[in-house]
Amino acid sequence: MAKAIGIDVGGTNLRVGVFDDHQLLQETRFQADFSQICHTCAPQEAWEKIISTTAEGIRNVLVQFPEVQHIGIGFPGFIDPKTQTVAQSPNFPGLKNVNLAQDLAHVLQKKVIVENDALAAAYGEYCLADKPATGLIYLGLGTGLGGGFIHSGTPFAGHHGVAMEVGHIIVEPNGRLCGCGNHGCVEQYASASGVMMSYQLLTNQRLNAHEIAQLADGGDASALVAYQQAGDSLAQMLASVVKVLDVPTIVIGGGMAHAWHLMRASFESRLEADLIPVLRGKLLVKPSKTGDIAGMLGASLLARHW
Ligand SMILES: [Zn+2]
Repeated sequence: MAKAIGIDVGGTNLRVGVFDDHQLLQETRFQADFSQICHTCAPQEAWEKIISTTAEGIRNVLVQFPEVQHIGIGFPGFIDPKTQTVAQSPNFPGLKNVNLAQDLAHVLQKKVIVENDALAAAYGEYCLADKPATGLIYLGLGTGLGGGFIHSGTPFAGHHGVAMEVGHIIVEPNGRLCGCGNHGCVEQYASASGVMMSYQLLTNQRLNAHEIAQLADGGDASALVAYQQAGDSLAQMLASVVKVLDVPTIVIGGGMAHAWHLMRASFESRLEADLIPVLRGKLLVKPSKTGDIAGMLGASLLARHW
């Protein structure tokens, strides 16, 4: 099969993977402070920097793999499924109705497709899970909390590209203020920033989610509570989502999936309590086994198919 490039655009770095079918041949990470750029530059200037940095990263990889014709990008934003336009990106404020696929294709002179990052990861996990007939729900726990749903083999983006914005399902009425403007969104509890906030509220100390996981593994009570709260909130949200979609296969991915063992007990007991009885014991929830390459893999596979 022809090689393809899959790219995962994060807030602070750009990951460019070269794939031969499902096999990752090479991953290159580039420093790319897109979030910082969007907070400090005017939208047009920020956009030009994002395009030039991304194009440069891809070009560096294309030097080694000039035969690659398919390039897919997982981007953290609402992607209009009809036009591929990035309508908006909560992580990258100021961007509005920009066309990443078109602008990059123009610079690179190759076809580029763009998909929401969590939806691209969902597609990667779906392909690795041997394409379950009932589809698959993906929950990506990173700095924020994203979601993706694969329905009948196709990424389900919704009419406006905002389907499965599960991070903004409210689990704590009048809870923590979220970047979206509402209070108590699950992302404020079940994400790296949510765990940091939980730990800070308990201890007045500001540590990152990885440090808190290490403390929890050593038995630190506050760190354990922070992760238990994440598991509880995640299950509360998922119970609602499966009542709508009735999809039994759920994959937990993202950078925080490595701490699944710290969330699992509170997640399972809350899920059992919140599900309608007919669904209890019938869901297959598992942490991703791909590390965190699912986003790049999914983007590369989508680039091949669409
Ligand atoms: Zn929110």
